[in-house]
Amino acid sequence: MFNHKIATIGSHSALQILKGAKDEGFSTIVICIKNREKLYKLFDVADEIIIINDYKEFPKIQNKLKKEKAIIIPHASFIAYLGLKTIEKLKIPYYGNKKILHWESDRNKEKKWLAKSKLNLPKIFTKAEKIDRLVIVKLHGADGGKGYFLAKDKDDFIKKTKSQPKQNYFIQEYIIGVPIYIHYFYSPITNQVEIMGFDKRYETNVDSLGRINSYDQLDLPKKMIDPSYVVIGNFPMVVRESLLPKILEMGQNVVKASQKIAPPGLFGPFCLETILTSESKFYTFEISARIVAGTNPYINGSPYTWIKYNEPMSTGRRIARDIKQAIEQNKLEKILY
Ligand code: ATP
Repeated sequence: MFNHKIATIGSHSALQILKGAKDEGFSTIVICIKNREKLYKLFDVADEIIIINDYKEFPKIQNKLKKEKAIIIPHASFIAYLGLKTIEKLKIPYYGNKKILHWESDRNKEKKWLAKSKLNLPKIFTKAEKIDRLVIVKLHGADGGKGYFLAKDKDDFIKKTKSQPKQNYFIQEYIIGVPIYIHYFYSPITNQVEIMGFDKRYETNVDSLGRINSYDQLDLPKKMIDPSYVVIGNFPMVVRESLLPKILEMGQNVVKASQKIAPPGLFGPFCLETILTSESKFYTFEISARIVAGTNPYINGSPYTWIKYNEPMSTGRRIARDIKQAIEQNKLEKILY
């Protein structure tokens, strides 16, 4: 048992994070809103459950968490519920480089980072007049991919946006290929970038449109068949082994570039959200600089972590192992912010 405890907010990948922490010998704390505690009780992954009325109250329990020597593990819901400004001001030990959050949340900065990492990016159109190919139109701050649409040219874009209130659209080249979400882990303790696994997402309603033949689709109201990309779950995936060297290089380049733009750089889990074309070219359309929910199918480890560790190693557990090794080597200052 360690003096430090591992804490996270009860959502997203908390089950995985807490189970992984317990497997590495840590006591755990989950902070959740009322009624969510039932889930964490059922799975018995939290030694302590703190219930708050609203996630906005999180800063108020900081002193209590500090006294318990809690280390907070961020995930997407943690960032979304608390917001960047609040997270920056938190005074409890936080696993991750907070400076990276700005590079990830601002689309222009993110693009700079990914380009610096020598990744192929889909072309971005700043003006509708310039659209010269199939594009995916994303809304800024979109609620999980709702309201996205495709446009084949400028006229199509104008037609589709005409009746909508003026919005801040993000227009990106649509890449035809298969989406692959690549899970990595970089440890500043071992100085190694690891491939943890892959997933593909199950998105409603876009993944259900193919079940209605085009003939029947023509008879349906447009509203019913407008695509949305709301993630409901994740499928595990393995990729052709011949793709792995390229995938590893991509992850290493992202870490290297991050060390220049936001020293000491990105560490811990991260994910490149990519589309692979039939010419085997990866296009990266987004980066998540933390644990992604796509790692949840691998609570018992992925094929890749099984090869490397010979024991069940989820991303949640890998985080706890990083913290454990940092404690043992007196290097906690390298991973806590
Ligand atoms: P987040 O990680 O923030 O939840 P996301 O992974 O859902 O976002 P989005 O950028 O919102 O990613 O994309 C939603 C969907 O659109 C996904 O199915 C993704 O594969 C697809 N997509 C995104 N960008 C492109 C693109 N440039 N070309 C083809 N498909 C894309």
